[in-house]
Amino acid sequence: MLKLLREGSCLDLKNCKRCGKLFSFHDHNVCRDCLEQDNAEFAKIRDYVRRHPGVTALELSRETGVAPVVITRFQREGRLTTEEKKVDEEK
Ligand SMILES: [Zn+2]
Repeated sequence: MLKLLREGSCLDLKNCKRCGKLFSFHDHNVCRDCLEQDNAEFAKIRDYVRRHPGVTALELSRETGVAPVVITRFQREGRLTTEEKKVDEEK
């Protein structure tokens, strides 16, 4: 009988990956409030990776001040590819 509690989930709402706020915003994992900061941090990361090819996620976080969880999310979203895991073998 607790099903009514999940009523809201039929809407296209999801939790912002940054602030946890529920929002409805397609094609993004963060709410509008956080999108600007998200893009700013992504730009910072992209810039650093360009200048330092092969940087690890850990180093990237340390050097840019962007939280590792954010970097991981960028990787998962396919927006960022670091070279750290790249090996010369075909799968
Ligand atoms: Zn947010």
